[in-house]
Amino acid sequence: MLSNAKKILNDAKKGKYAVGQYNINNLEWTKAVLETCQEMKAPVILGTSEGAVKYMGGFHAIVGMVEGLMKDLKITIPVVLHLDHGQSVENCKKAIDAGYKSVMFDGSSLNIKENVLKTKEVVEYANKHQASVEAEVGTVGGNEDGVVGGINYASLSECESIAATGITMLAASLGSVHGHYVGKPKLGFKEMEIYAKATNLPLVLHGGSGIPNEQITKAIAAGEAKINVNTEIQEAFAKGIRRYIEEKLDQKGMGYDPRKIIGTYAYKNMKDTVAEKITLFGTKNKAK
Ligand SMILES: [Zn+2]
Repeated sequence: MLSNAKKILNDAKKGKYAVGQYNINNLEWTKAVLETCQEMKAPVILGTSEGAVKYMGGFHAIVGMVEGLMKDLKITIPVVLHLDHGQSVENCKKAIDAGYKSVMFDGSSLNIKENVLKTKEVVEYANKHQASVEAEVGTVGGNEDGVVGGINYASLSECESIAATGITMLAASLGSVHGHYVGKPKLGFKEMEIYAKATNLPLVLHGGSGIPNEQITKAIAAGEAKINVNTEIQEAFAKGIRRYIEEKLDQKGMGYDPRKIIGTYAYKNMKDTVAEKITLFGTKNKAK
């Protein structure tokens, strides 16, 4: 059964570790993440961007796939299926209707008043379905699935207004970017501490791929309890496919079998990347 994110993130905040949100794109992706997290007894959040939802067919297809895999693979760790960067109230509701127990409403491009109003509407709907809600203030830099932004630091008053809507977790943008950083990241660690304390919410770090490990550790200590990882798994996958093709394995015997193309290197690369993150975030053996 799918869980919401409330308990695992509050536990993470208290225990000073972070739960990874690993964005998925297809069945192999989902299976690789679930298997790795089960092996390491780590609670997990599966992220789906609106682009990925469209790609995989829709919310119902994804709920069916994730729930089916959980049953067949005998997954016992808490699994949260989460809409990443929901762009409208309507889409958040649609995800919840299809069975999602967690959504992000990304109103970061709106003014704070409008962001608060719409976030509140999502929270009210989510509460009726025991679903958790993530909101965003400030803007994460870079481009994620067409959601483009320059870095814009969240302010304390914005964090307090959005926290008052009753959200579960807060993405307060403090210098991270989607994809790779150009130059060295300048994260607002002091603000993280202040905002985490003031809102009493687990903070969410978007763009976890481009941040050096020592800064991730520092961010967790400062209150980040959910870290989103997307780009690095994509790169690990692409590298595995590239190696397979460059070794011309697709031209040997029955090497054109898609299960071999994906299963030989790319699948293991994805699992290794997730395992590394679980260790870095301190989530190993945290599934209860
Ligand atoms: Zn993001």
